[in-house]
Amino acid sequence: MDALHTRTLQQLDAAHHLHPFNDNGALAEQGTRILTRGQGCYVWDAEGHQLLDAFAGLWCVNIGYGRAELGHAAARQMQQLAYYNSFFQCTTEPTIQLAAKLAELAPGDLNHAFFTNSGSEANDTILRLVRHFWAVQDQPRKNIFIGRHDGYHGTTMAGASLGGMKGMHRQGGLPIPDIHHIDPPYGFGDGGELDPDDYGLLAARRLEAKILALGPERVAAFIGEPVMGAIGVYIPPRTYWPEIERICRRYDVLLVADEVICGFGRTGQWFGAQTYGFQPDVMTLAKGITSGYVPLGAAMFNDRVAGVLKAQGGELAHGCTYSGHPVCAAVALENLRILQHERIVEHARDGIAAYLAQRWAELGEHPLVGEARIVGLMGALELVPDKTRRDCFPDRGRVGALCRDIARRNGLILRATHDAMLLSPPLVISREQVDELFEKTWKSLGETAAAMGK
Ligand SMILES: *Cc1c(COP(=O)(O)O)cnc(C)c1O
Repeated sequence: MDALHTRTLQQLDAAHHLHPFNDNGALAEQGTRILTRGQGCYVWDAEGHQLLDAFAGLWCVNIGYGRAELGHAAARQMQQLAYYNSFFQCTTEPTIQLAAKLAELAPGDLNHAFFTNSGSEANDTILRLVRHFWAVQDQPRKNIFIGRHDGYHGTTMAGASLGGMKGMHRQGGLPIPDIHHIDPPYGFGDGGELDPDDYGLLAARRLEAKILALGPERVAAFIGEPVMGAIGVYIPPRTYWPEIERICRRYDVLLVADEVICGFGRTGQWFGAQTYGFQPDVMTLAKGITSGYVPLGAAMFNDRVAGVLKAQGGELAHGCTYSGHPVCAAVALENLRILQHERIVEHARDGIAAYLAQRWAELGEHPLVGEARIVGLMGALELVPDKTRRDCFPDRGRVGALCRDIARRNGLILRATHDAMLLSPPLVISREQVDELFEKTWKSLGETAAAMGK
């Protein structure tokens, strides 16, 4: 793209486009970066720079960019039947096939899909249908959801309320009523000198204390990301989720796993719940379900919840025009076919995860890095002022943003949350690309330290 055209587009963008999760005033001054092309693990920007996308778009491009098969699947379905709804006793073939495919892939008896356009809407769906599930069983007061401070469940009213991001709650009067939060499992910041297994139990038992404080007859469900993504890839100790599951069963609280990031291979198994050895009653899906090629979300319910909704739920007064959109379903099916046929999840786990973990641990040796943590293909580097301690930088977020911008100039996309550098590459990343990731990250850490005058 020539420089004049790029500049024109940036001016139009500044004049007419409000960006999510941006300071729009500052962005308009600075000019948006326009991405133009993607192939495999790389994207190119309007200036022609090639960037290694170690964040897979936004945790989603699991099969990598540029897979023509997904475009063909969309084109075929558009020509055959571009749209039909799933309201009024109807649906389409790809929608049915996708629901069946998800039931086959999802662990245990998570056999029932409700489709949405996004992860946020799937969580809205879960909030409504789970409350409805209890209400039709004569427990209308069992309506409280417990999430976690700093959790992320999307940006709709319910999604942002279930999430625990204070900055989000401040905009728009959130959280909505009957949503509570407990502290997350964050060993680096909160675990002190505790053994990780002990810390995992301690962090999980915060749920039990909260349920008892509210009264088990009030608590409908607990929702959590198997690995907390957006806040900075908080990897729980292995004791955490089994203990959460035990507590949920004990008080008959439904367990909702928000698998929007963890699902479809990110943690080395198809779902994060499998990596951590627990069985959710309800699961949120989006992102990797289509590798981000088209928007799609789903809420998966187990036999118990779906059974009650079918037997006693009456007409579900809920749904989106595009619930089960045939084009999105066709693309999802093709994405899942490729993931299975090319054994991408298994190759990522057995072929690349160990090597990536080894190189990530080497990055942990850098003087700026307080902790390098990783599970599967999802990791974080915690940047700290003093490697021997776990203190944060005083002006939280500045160093992370600096490192992110330097990495970008070095041809590497990493995300920064506060002062943690987050990693989530396409699952198809090769050993050579892991080496490139290492080199560019190490160089960027050094330049960050230099820019800070260290
Ligand atoms: C991205 C995300 C969501 C929201 O999905 P959208 O498609 O952006 O609405 C929900 N939960 C988690 C864990 C996410 O990472």
